[in-house]
Amino acid sequence: MNASINRRRLLVGGAASAVATAGLLARPAAAIAAEAVAAADDSPGWIDAHVHVWTPDTRRYPVGPNFTVADMVPPSFTADQLLSHCRPENVGRIVLIQMNFYELDHRYLLAVMRQHPGVFSAVGLVDHQSPAVAAAMNHLAAQGVRGFRLHSLGDAKDWPHSETMATLWKKAAADGLAVCPLINPEDLPHIDVLCKRFPDTTVVVDHFARIGVSGRIDAERLDALCRLARFPNVHVKTSAFYALGAKASPYTDLTAMIQRVLDAFGPQRLMWGSDCPYQVQDPHTYHDSIALIRDSMDSLSATEKQWILRDTAEKVFFS
Ligand SMILES: [Zn+2]
Repeated sequence: MNASINRRRLLVGGAASAVATAGLLARPAAAIAAEAVAAADDSPGWIDAHVHVWTPDTRRYPVGPNFTVADMVPPSFTADQLLSHCRPENVGRIVLIQMNFYELDHRYLLAVMRQHPGVFSAVGLVDHQSPAVAAAMNHLAAQGVRGFRLHSLGDAKDWPHSETMATLWKKAAADGLAVCPLINPEDLPHIDVLCKRFPDTTVVVDHFARIGVSGRIDAERLDALCRLARFPNVHVKTSAFYALGAKASPYTDLTAMIQRVLDAFGPQRLMWGSDCPYQVQDPHTYHDSIALIRDSMDSLSATEKQWILRDTAEKVFFS
């Protein structure tokens, strides 16, 4: 809960009390209106579980040595730009994912978190091959980072044999932090091995393990993703709709895949993410991403939507 919400609550409460003492005749309609405002104000809003931000201020926040400013496409996607997309859709909290071109320099992500208390959680990057991986995790966790991204660059097959990777998974479980693999479908068996070895680690698989990036939703690959559901701590992000299947709004070709992972994992292990700024590059829009789950999927109950659009991410990244 952040200070501004508390302040708004106080103001709404004050207005309601004033109405109550103003006279009985005036009370009913005004009180109903005040309650409606209070209800809307108390709504915690949805959570977007996957977003990147960056700033054109590259003097203060330079890209890492393996990248150039030209890699920043679009050139700017600051927290204010992000929030201008989220607010109209009642998305009140957001999980920031460390952008790859900042490499291990988390200064911009951490500054955004500090500037908006209560709004952002974060997933950071650590060098999983470093003997100092545990110290790097401690450093970021102390500043509010709640998960660590594993980005497979074709090396996921080596992960189950890495001692430092084992340290990362064990420490994540012990400290209540999440491991968030950005993998391709062919990497799923390696994640399966790690989940078997470290069943207490909370895992959040990004973007359906990128099933559908080729344009085709492969049934065998979807089976491999759904087999991870036998590990109770594995979650899946239903995210990056702009990049999967037909890659075209309203993305309804993805509903069968969403329903399949829902049947396997249940709503309490699915979380929606936009993958901004990519989701807001023309012709894609933020509205069309959240609308697929919120408005288009009639097969989902209101409770299932609440888990996918808020409660699962709240449990993993904000509690
Ligand atoms: Zn992303």
